[in-house]
Amino acid sequence: MQIEENIPLAPLTTFKVGGNARYLVEARAADDVLATVEYARSNQLPLFVLGGGSNLVVSDTGWPGMVLKIGIRGVEERSDGVFEVGAGEDWDSFVALTVNRNCAGVETLSGIPGTVGGTPVQNVGAYGQEVSETITSVHVLDTATRQFKDLSNAECGFAYRTSIFNSTERGRYIVLRVTYALRPGGAAKIAYADLKKYFPEGTQPTLQQVRDAVREIRLSKAMLIVPNDDDCRSAGSFFKNPIVDTSIYEDVAAHANGSVPPKYPASDGKVKLSAAWLVEQSGFAKGYTRGAVGISRRHSLAIVNRGGAAAADIIALKEEVQKGVHEKFGIELSPEPVFIGFE
Ligand SMILES: Cc1cc2nc3c(=O)[nH]c(=O)nc-3n(C[C@H](O)[C@H](O)[C@H](O)COP(=O)(O)OP(=O)(O)OC[C@H]3O[C@@H](n4cnc5c(N)ncnc54)[C@H](O)[C@@H]3O)c2cc1C
Repeated sequence: MQIEENIPLAPLTTFKVGGNARYLVEARAADDVLATVEYARSNQLPLFVLGGGSNLVVSDTGWPGMVLKIGIRGVEERSDGVFEVGAGEDWDSFVALTVNRNCAGVETLSGIPGTVGGTPVQNVGAYGQEVSETITSVHVLDTATRQFKDLSNAECGFAYRTSIFNSTERGRYIVLRVTYALRPGGAAKIAYADLKKYFPEGTQPTLQQVRDAVREIRLSKAMLIVPNDDDCRSAGSFFKNPIVDTSIYEDVAAHANGSVPPKYPASDGKVKLSAAWLVEQSGFAKGYTRGAVGISRRHSLAIVNRGGAAAADIIALKEEVQKGVHEKFGIELSPEPVFIGFE
């Protein structure tokens, strides 16, 4: 176990902002994870678990304790479409492998940055699929008991952009391996409007065609990481789509100056509003700029670092957008990324 000191965190994130980690360890095996947890505990160092850094805003003062970067690799593949994958594997490379093996289930999640271990945390989803549909179990270290254990899909408590890992049990479990059950020879999922538009009606594209289409659509929205493209120097979508009662939807519609707010069905008779629509209608158009930060020119839901931004600039724009949306529609937008080092 090699402990490094005063390591800049900005290069380890997609936003490219934030200060240093006081200590950083990269763990390549479950035992290294346990040893690091014990070391942090006995030295009273706050612990932060880092994956690919694609859903993070790190404060300008950095992280005062130990950052544990998960570097556990390896993909075990079974003939029935079950894949057991190390948490440190790159997510999109894993998706490419499953498509190559003609296994359906995660093809529309192509092009999402980050690690496999990050996917259960916010139940990663895009273009009609969520990882909760295919995860069968998550192998974790329980930092409360310091025991390794397997959590079933039901125990993970998955819902829209949430799980026990980022809500009720936040900080308790460290994801070491994730098991996905995919469908060998299964059909690609074409449920999302953008994909339905992309493929002629009545056709059934292959998994590879769907993967290519998703990556092309993501590229057009700067939702695919391309080095030196400042429209994707971000944490992806910055705000979650609010899930509200229908009466609130009517309220939003009443303040929409004649346009019809998009809505999607959600559970318990509620509706999901489009955060992107709310942001745009509140005066924050694509390309809006505020010093070194702004809204992506290709996606109104992405706050971007145009170069040389500080975390404080991102927070200021986040608050400006939240205030604008609240004043116009009475809706509180919740951020999607994780904020570290701000306490
Ligand atoms: C351009 C772009 C597009 C994106 N598009 C999407 C999208 O379409 N859909 C979507 O859902 N997300 C999207 N995201 C967000 C992000 O890619 C995902 O949330 C991703 O799964 C985060 O994984 P990560 O490894 O980068 O986690 P990190 O950013 O490193 O960490 C995020 C959180 O997960 C925790 N975590 C990470 N690994 C582990 C682990 N092994 N054990 C325990 N906790 C862990 C961290 O402690 C932190 O709380 C996008 C981001 C970008 C930059």
